[in-house]
Amino acid sequence: MSRIVIVGGGIIGSSTAYHLARAGCAADVIVVEPDPTYEFAATPRATGGVRLQHSVRENMEMSLYGDAVYSGFAEHVTGGKVAYDPQFKRIGYLYQVKGAGNVELLQADAEMQRSLGVEVDILDRATLRQRYPSFVFDAVDAAALSPDGQIDPHGALMGMRSAAEGLGITYLKDRVVGLDVANGRVTTAHLESGRTLSVDTIVNAANCWSPGICGMVGMPVPIAPMPRHQFFFDSRAEIETIPAMRGDDGFSFRPHSLGYLCGHSRHGEPFGFNWEQDHKVFEQELWPRLAERCPAFEAIKLKGGWVGHYDMNPLDGNMVLDRFHKVPNFILAAGFSGHGLMHAPAVGRAIKEMILEGGFRSIDLSRFSYRRIEENEPIPDNGPRA
Ligand SMILES: Cc1cc2nc3c(=O)[nH]c(=O)nc-3n(C[C@H](O)[C@H](O)[C@H](O)COP(=O)(O)OP(=O)(O)OC[C@H]3O[C@@H](n4cnc5c(N)ncnc54)[C@H](O)[C@@H]3O)c2cc1C
Repeated sequence: MSRIVIVGGGIIGSSTAYHLARAGCAADVIVVEPDPTYEFAATPRATGGVRLQHSVRENMEMSLYGDAVYSGFAEHVTGGKVAYDPQFKRIGYLYQVKGAGNVELLQADAEMQRSLGVEVDILDRATLRQRYPSFVFDAVDAAALSPDGQIDPHGALMGMRSAAEGLGITYLKDRVVGLDVANGRVTTAHLESGRTLSVDTIVNAANCWSPGICGMVGMPVPIAPMPRHQFFFDSRAEIETIPAMRGDDGFSFRPHSLGYLCGHSRHGEPFGFNWEQDHKVFEQELWPRLAERCPAFEAIKLKGGWVGHYDMNPLDGNMVLDRFHKVPNFILAAGFSGHGLMHAPAVGRAIKEMILEGGFRSIDLSRFSYRRIEENEPIPDNGPRA
């Protein structure tokens, strides 16, 4: 019997398992996931944005499949049952830029996005002021508005996992601690419990922990955990309904539950796990910026927050999805740098195609190769980034 071992049962591992199960291989697949509560996993800590604005075409194509799967979850994934629901809402996304060069790039990207069927509008400053009267757009020359979705990441993860389990996939509560390699192939996975699994193909979907798994087969990767802070606040003053908003300086906030969520990466801090959230960062750095953009946000109340970690690929902020050429039955799917939830359905489908169909079939994802890491050749990407 061939055995496909998936390391990590987050949204990437679970989507891969689900797509393999749909193709009739459930009996050959084992997902190894040490923590069924997913306390430190990235997936339940995500914001939940399913973004339809990227400047890399393949990222757009992946988002569109993610949008279709999450917005039609009961129909696509759970066969009509809704024990877990990603609660897809089409809230929209407004990406704002300054400077003639950036406006040109925005327009070129919007054309590519429209060619894929996404309704993207470019709004000038006057239109922005009219549509969002509570906001200040003095430092914005144009913005692109797209009909993006937002989901509940935990609902999506548990929905995908339970759909995979419903199709016969086994999840082992265990941890991969070692891999045997012989003649350029992974032959055995060693688990923390002492158990061993024979391996035909192994998929490394361990996100921030994936570099350690890569190390077991001698595959150097630059991927590392980058803390991403989320601050949840509510506003005393009523304002108009807004989409997720982001500037080309990376500052972003979005409606969330009965308030708003402000996301923040502390660029310049060394990579690594750091779970501490310093509320002074919100009070001293983010709140003034929020109030500058929306004077009504002078009267807000910080209600809480959390920290998660991007599996950051510092080369170009895009995933690595490839077989390791020195150990070709080892597949790496990591380095999502903040896009992994929206792209998980497409990545799971793509890994199924790599394993069962000999290569990418639905979307050509060959640009996300490991070779570009070895050759230090970033994918050009001027879209919204981490
Ligand atoms: C704050 C924040 C906001 C984000 N917002 C968005 C967003 O709006 N939209 C979007 O698309 N993406 C977003 N992301 C990114 C997204 O969350 C991730 O890209 C995605 O969840 C990655 O899924 P994963 O399955 O690879 O990782 P994870 O969910 O981290 O799963 C990896 C799993 O591997 C397991 N594991 C670790 N070591 C081992 C081992 N040795 N053996 C077996 N298993 C192991 C872990 O227990 C974990 O459960 C955000 C991320 C963060 C942190």
